[in-house]
Amino acid sequence: MNPLIIANWKCNPETLEEAQELFFSIKEDIKNKDIVICPPSIFLPSLICEGVNFGAQNCFWEEKGAYTGEISPQMIKSIGCDYVIIGHSERRTIFHESNEDIKKKVRKAQMAGLIPVVCIGESEDQDTFEVIEEQIKDIGRDVILAYEPLWAIGTGENASLEKVKEVREFLKDRKVLYGGSVNSQNAKDYLEITDGLLIGGASLNAGEFIKIILCDI
Ligand code: PEP
Repeated sequence: MNPLIIANWKCNPETLEEAQELFFSIKEDIKNKDIVICPPSIFLPSLICEGVNFGAQNCFWEEKGAYTGEISPQMIKSIGCDYVIIGHSERRTIFHESNEDIKKKVRKAQMAGLIPVVCIGESEDQDTFEVIEEQIKDIGRDVILAYEPLWAIGTGENASLEKVKEVREFLKDRKVLYGGSVNSQNAKDYLEITDGLLIGGASLNAGEFIKIILCDI
């Protein structure tokens, strides 16, 4: 099975013009590959095109209704996305999403035909396996998991290969990606011990992102 590489642009770049520029500089290299681009949802309709996989960075758990500001899984699917990131640590910490919220989102995303990419991982003072156990409880097996220890996200302090191997082993036959300060220097090492990568910062630099994709070939 080919590894899956997911680009999480987070709340970047600032304008549609910049998003289009970034996208067009990687487009030919990511076409017809197991790569998923997750830009801010508002940019999705302007970027979606044949041959490229897209995802949203979050979704709500209802299909429609009086939920100002929310975007439903059905809406995401209807514009041509196949994936949705759920429970990113920034959603959990800044927006106080609970494991219960995340479970509801996963279920509704699946019902809408989206593949959920559920982010899991501990903070510096927590026990990895206790936290993960709780985060994956009742979440079902039909999801992609992204192990992203909080202390490794955007810090340049990526998790050790040993640690990622232990987590991979703990999650056994599930599909597990690694995320946390991945760059073109370390991507190959993580690809050898996981099913793929979730990339934040490095996905905003076209040259760096292309190098990461190429290191897999
Ligand atoms: C992320 O946002 O999921 C992430 C892994 O970020 P970074 O690659 O910047 O650490």
